[in-house]
Formats: sequence, C-alpha cells, structure tokens
Amino acid sequence: MATIINGKEISKTIREEIAKEVAALPLRPGLAVVLVGNDPASAVYVRNKNTACREVGIYSEVYTLPEETTREELLGLIAQLNESPAIHGILVQLPLPRHLDPEEVIMAIRPDKDVDAFHPVNVGKIMIGNFDFLPCTPAGVMELIRRSGISVAGKECVVIGRSNIVGKPQAMLLLHENATVTVCHSRTVGLSEVCRRADILVSAVGKAGFVTADMVKEGAVVIDVGMNRDENGRLCGDVDYDAVAAKASYITPVPGGVGPMTITMLLKNTVTAAKRIGGIS
Ligand code: NAP
Repeated sequence: MATIINGKEISKTIREEIAKEVAALPLRPGLAVVLVGNDPASAVYVRNKNTACREVGIYSEVYTLPEETTREELLGLIAQLNESPAIHGILVQLPLPRHLDPEEVIMAIRPDKDVDAFHPVNVGKIMIGNFDFLPCTPAGVMELIRRSGISVAGKECVVIGRSNIVGKPQAMLLLHENATVTVCHSRTVGLSEVCRRADILVSAVGKAGFVTADMVKEGAVVIDVGMNRDENGRLCGDVDYDAVAAKASYITPVPGGVGPMTITMLLKNTVTAAKRIGGIS
C-alpha cells in the first residue's frame, strides 16, 4: 500500500518556515490579488490567498473589479501596482471575463512582480533553468517530491497534460532535476503503455478516474494534480485512488495533496520577489 504524501502537513511546515523568514525581513512583502467578475470559484481562491498571506505576515491587497471592467481600467490598475512600493507580487486571477485578453494582461505585469510566473520573461527563464519564480502548482509538486525524500535524477517521469500552467512547466522542472521526461496529451498514442514506464507519474488532465491501476507500474510514485468533482459533487483528482494506491509506493490524495501547496508556493514567490526588489540576498 502506498505511503500517502500529506500535502496539508508539508504545506503547514513550509508556511511556518515562510512566517519565520517574513518576521526576520527588514521589509514587509506585499501581494496584490486582482479579481475581475463574479466567478464563484475564483472568489474562493482569492479569499484563500488573502487569508494565507495574513497568516504568514505578508501584506495583501485584494481588488475586486466588476465584470464590465474595461481593458484600460484593468491595465491602469496593473500599471499602478507595478509602481507601488508596498506591492512585490501581483496576481490577476484567471480566468478573466471574455472581453479581456489574458495574455495582454499578463504581459502588463512587471516580470519581477509576476509571482504566478506566467509572464513570457519568466517562462523563458524556466526554460533556460535560471529562474526567480516557479509556477506555483508545478513548484508545489517538486516540493512534495523533495520533502518526501524521493529522488528524481535518472528516473522515468511521465507528465499527463501539456498546459502552460501545469504540464509544460512541470516537465521542465523534472528535467532540470535530471529526470527523463515524457509529456503526454490527448493525441498521445498508447498512453497506458507510456504511463506504465513511469517511476514518477504526474497527472494534470482534469478528468475524474482518468488514471487507472493498469496504467501504473508497481511501486511508482503517483502525483495527482487534477481537481474535479465526482458524480456526488465531491472534490476528487484524476487518479482512481484506491486501486492505484494499492500498487504505488507514494501517492498524493485529493483533497490534501497538491492543492494546498499551490498557495504555499505563491507565498514563497512573494517573499522571493520582495527580497529581490528590496535587494536582500
Ligand atoms: P488543461 O489546460 O485543460 O489541460 C489538460 C491537459 O490534459 C491537456 O494538455 C490535454 O491535452 C490533456 N488531456 C485531456 N484529455 C486527455 C486524454 N484523454 N489523454 C491524455 N491527455 C489528455 O488543464 P490544466 O489547467 O493543466 O489543469 C489540469 C487539472 O489540474 C485540472 O483538473 C485543474 O483543475 C487542476 N489544477 C489543479 C491545481 C492545484 O492547485 N491543485 C492547479 C492548476 C490546475 P491536449 O493539450 O491535447 O488538449
């Protein structure tokens, strides 16, 4: 039976470390979170980010803008936050209403305040392996692996999903840690067979029950990034948990696995941004 990787516990430990670091800094890191529109899930995420900041001593501002906010208004706010000395990290909660172009909005954020690491400058830095920030979810996965004492170098790693937010940067981070990485997607031929090669399997698909036990090698590490609702409306991941846990050596549950790590990594990025902007090594 697999050892459960407890993301909640690991996240708590890291947040304690962050709180200590923040308390010792000569400046107070500040994060601005911008929410446009009425998406209820986004509102919950923003609230959670704000609470998490306060808990570790990070100053936070939340801007809740109406659905009909214009491009000029949103870009104007970002320009103002780019210049604000109290703000070291800027996060615009996605998805945006359809009349706003997320790429243009991300491009408007100063790269050294882009704590989501979505700006092309930061994406490029991840590619060359010389990065300031890592995108929060893949960074959270790496931290879970590291803090569970699992080595990555030389391992066969398979990532299912190739989104810009999760799959692609995840593959890149595993590669930087010297894994042999395969990225799968909806056009992959022989997916099960490819997955069965994995010593470490990361699923970021977004479909409940997608990863079944026959896709998993005996003793593999299985990381479930998926966040879905099952037929009863309960939060679940991509992995058929009970059957896969019986085969894997380590597994992340949903909830309580990767999820809590995402905000924790955002806090970490905000502290990194504050230190860089403040010239603190
Ligand atoms: P996304 O942009 O929809 O990407 C999903 C990926 O899965 C795509 O690359 C897609 O392939 C691939 N895929 C879909 N069906 C497939 C199939 N039948 N076989 C193989 N690959 C398939 O989603 P995302 O933003 O990366 O998020 C993925 C999941 O992670 C979602 O459940 C999301 O809610 C969750 N998530 C969780 C966190 C967290 O904090 N825990 C953070 C972010 C995301 P194509 O590219 O070919 O279409």
